[in-house]
Amino acid sequence: MKIAIIAHDKKKKEMITFCQKHENILKDHQLYATGTTGHKVMEATDLVIHCYRSGPLGGDQEIGARVANGDIDLILFFRDPLTAQPHEPDVQGLFRLSDVYKIPLASNINTAEMFFKTLK
Ligand code: PGA
Repeated sequence: MKIAIIAHDKKKKEMITFCQKHENILKDHQLYATGTTGHKVMEATDLVIHCYRSGPLGGDQEIGARVANGDIDLILFFRDPLTAQPHEPDVQGLFRLSDVYKIPLASNINTAEMFFKTLK
């Protein structure tokens, strides 16, 4: 599967913990991420991730383009609902595209855990 990995700043630690826990599953998939999230996860694991631009610089939209092209199967987007994001329109756009194309999107760690129970 092609899996997109994105985490807002205050959720990056959770994303790293999640990816470390599930590294054995994730290593068998093609991984894509926004810039900062992807680099931080790669530093903390042996995973190889194709990194796009940082979210605020267009990375969410780049991943959105993959979704629109049928090139993403699952999105893990750990969103911080308590902090204003300068690129909120891009975030909304990616969520919208996930619904347009019916791509599963986990917006928090517990939803992601449920998805991964299915992947095991
Ligand atoms: P980042 O982008 O991984 O480059 O921090 C994530 C986001 O805020 O959309």
